[in-house]
Amino acid sequence: MSPLKKALITGGAGFIGAWLGRALLDQGVEIVALDDLSTGTWPNPTLGEPEGLTFVRGDCADAALVARLVEGCDFVFHLAAVVGVRRVVESPLRTALVNQATTLTVLEAAAAAGVPVLLASSSEVYGPLATAPFREDDAGSFGPPEQGRWTYALTKAAGEQMAFALGRERGLPFVVVRLFNTVGPGQSAAFGMVLPRFVDQARRGEPMTVYGDGEQTRVFCHVADVVDALVALARTPSSWGRLYNVGGVQSVSIRDLAGKVRERLGSDSPIRHVPFVQAFGDDFAEARHRQPDIGRIAQAVGWSPRRGLDRIIDDAIEGAGAGAPAPRREHER
Ligand code: UDP
Repeated sequence: MSPLKKALITGGAGFIGAWLGRALLDQGVEIVALDDLSTGTWPNPTLGEPEGLTFVRGDCADAALVARLVEGCDFVFHLAAVVGVRRVVESPLRTALVNQATTLTVLEAAAAAGVPVLLASSSEVYGPLATAPFREDDAGSFGPPEQGRWTYALTKAAGEQMAFALGRERGLPFVVVRLFNTVGPGQSAAFGMVLPRFVDQARRGEPMTVYGDGEQTRVFCHVADVVDALVALARTPSSWGRLYNVGGVQSVSIRDLAGKVRERLGSDSPIRHVPFVQAFGDDFAEARHRQPDIGRIAQAVGWSPRRGLDRIIDDAIEGAGAGAPAPRREHER
């Protein structure tokens, strides 16, 4: 077990970062949350402002700032990134530049200080051609550059390669997670993520926007389970130096998900099928079936998710538990 007394969380005011901070604070770990508030929320209802929490509003590409913050910590969780398919598709260039610069800065600062880092990567790295379930030693694939979506995946993949290279050449202690669709209370509907969006639409009695035929499938994982996985890896040095899928187990089609949300809320929102081209333009592409193989992390730290799909949907609807930041709607179309 690693001591874990004080941790830096980049993206600490974001959805997963705030849940992670909350969990660590509850375990007596001091937290420094670094966030530029481009999509994060501060004050953050999930976190509150408890003792042991320091919030720093700043840029993760600011090498001097990051070096100073890393210095006082014994672990770094690097979660900050441009997130949400909608934002990525709208600003592929910004996505690439920001994700690349911030990840490089944080990894290099951690390597220089010899502080272990957990890097949040993404199931997007598996690309459009992978066959479910996705395993960590599968080769990744990317769509062509005409499809702006893949800048996100490419910078996440580049970050993974950097972590491994810094591990090999400069002795950086690291662990990489590929996060699959993570949902739960506090996730904003403003950045396009499907579950909070469906909940929002069903609540308002508005049409539920199912993209394409709705037969594409995803496996959702409750953010509380995801956070348990991240903490378990951080506390288990024998798991470091590797890459792990972190995600749920129960596959659901997007059309069925819409139906379940509607039913739970007793909503009479109609289901509206929106062609991808109408939602995102000509060059859009996405993975048809996305599902993690989570055998590796189960073996390394004994983790598997405890909350099933019904609980996930109920919690997303309730917004209960750790508190839900007020929805930010300014980017919504
Ligand atoms: N989706 C949808 N309607 C929406 C938002 C998303 O049908 O309003 C679909 C999207 O095309 C994808 C799935 O829901 O197949 C999950 O989308 P999300 O953006 O949450 O995550 P992704 O899996 O694309 O990273």
